[in-house]
Amino acid sequence: MKDKKSIATLLNHSDYRPLEGFEALPPAIHHASTVLFNNVAAMRSARWQDKSAYTYGLHGTPTTFTLEARLAEIEEGKHCILTPSGLAAIAMVNFGLLKSGDDVLIPDNVYGPSREMGNWLAQDWGISVRFYDPLIGSNIAGLIQSNTKLVWAETPGSVSMEVPDIPAISRAAHEKGVPLALDNTWSAGLAFNAFEHGADIVLQALTKYQSGGSDVLMGAVITRDDSIHHRIATAHGLLGFGVGPDDVYLVLRGLQNMKVRFDAHDAAAHKVAAWLKTRPEIAKVLHPAFDDCPGHDIWKRDFTGAGGLFSVLFDPRYAEEQTDRFVDSLQLFKIGYSWGGSHSLCVPYRMSSMRNYWLSEGNLVRFYIGLEDPQDLMADIEQALKKL
Ligand SMILES: *Cc1c(COP(=O)(O)O)cnc(C)c1O
Repeated sequence: MKDKKSIATLLNHSDYRPLEGFEALPPAIHHASTVLFNNVAAMRSARWQDKSAYTYGLHGTPTTFTLEARLAEIEEGKHCILTPSGLAAIAMVNFGLLKSGDDVLIPDNVYGPSREMGNWLAQDWGISVRFYDPLIGSNIAGLIQSNTKLVWAETPGSVSMEVPDIPAISRAAHEKGVPLALDNTWSAGLAFNAFEHGADIVLQALTKYQSGGSDVLMGAVITRDDSIHHRIATAHGLLGFGVGPDDVYLVLRGLQNMKVRFDAHDAAAHKVAAWLKTRPEIAKVLHPAFDDCPGHDIWKRDFTGAGGLFSVLFDPRYAEEQTDRFVDSLQLFKIGYSWGGSHSLCVPYRMSSMRNYWLSEGNLVRFYIGLEDPQDLMADIEQALKKL
C-alpha cells in the first residue's frame, strides 16, 4: 500500500484512536450494525445465541447489554432481552415457547393487542388459545391440559385493574410443569416482585415508566431459567427484533429517576382516586389500593405501591354519549393510549366488547395521573363532570 492514503480512503480509514481511560456517568451510545472481529477464527467461534461475545448489532452492543443487565437487576432476574415494543416482547414469548398443537391460557382482561395476538395464534397458527377469568386463582388448575405450554398473567389488568392471585396461579401452573409469563408493566417492576411471587418470565413495556417521556417504544423479557431464556433468545434472533441505541439511551436515562417519578404518580393518583370515590357521578373506583377494586386484598398482600394508572366506573344512569362528553371536556387530561410519561391521560373503554366475562354496569374510563398538581387535575375533572 502507498504511504499516503488517497482522500476517499482517508475519509473512511483513520489512524486516530481516542485516548484510553475515559470515564463518565452516562453509558456510551454505540451505533452498530456491523461488529468487527479481530480475525476469522474469532468470527467463526462467536455464537450470537449466547451473550459472551459481540457478533452483530442485532444481537447486542455494550449499550443494549447495559440496559438488559440493569433491567434484570431491577426484577431480580438473570437474563433480559430487549424488543422494539412491549407488544413485540409478548410476541417473542409466544413464538419462543409455543408451536402448533400447543395450548396457551391468557387472562380475559389482558392488554388488548395481546388478546388480538391470541386470536391470531388460534386462527392462523394452529394454537389453542383460551381466555380465563383473571380472578380464578388456584382454580386455574382445572384448565391446564396436557398440551398447555404457557400461562399468561397480567397484574393488575391495565384497564379493569382486577388483581390476580399470582402465587396461586403460579403454583397451579408449576404443578403441571407449565411456565407462567407475567406482564408486570403496571408496577414497573418497582411495586411487585414478579419472580418472588412465582413468575418464570417477566415482561415490561419500557414504553411506560422506564422511558417516562412518551417518546420511546421498547419492551423487555426477563427470565431466570437458562433453558427458557435460550428459547426466547432464539425467537429474538430469528424474528430480528433489534432496538436502536438512542432509544436504549433514553430508557437508561429514564431509569435513574424512575422510582421518584413512580412514587409521585402513586401519591397523586391516590389523591385523585380518593376524591373521585366521594363523587356521586362515580359508581366505583377501580384502583387496586381501594376496596372497590376486585383483588384489592391480593394487592395489599403482594404489592408495595400502585403508580399512576387506575379506572372508574360511572354510575349506570349515564349513557356512553355523556361519559364521552366528560372525556372530551377535560383540558389537562389528554385523550390517548399508553402512559408512564409526565402528562395526565384519559381513555374511555367499551368493556363488554373487550371481554368474554364482564358483569359490571356503568361506563369505564381509565385515568393516568401525570406529574401535574393533583389539585389542578381534580379541578379539571370537576368542570368536566358538570358537562355530563
Ligand atoms: C403498553 C403495554 C404493552 C405494550 O407496550 P408497547 O410498547 O406499547 O407495545 C403491553 N402490556 C401492557 C400492560 C401495556 O400497558
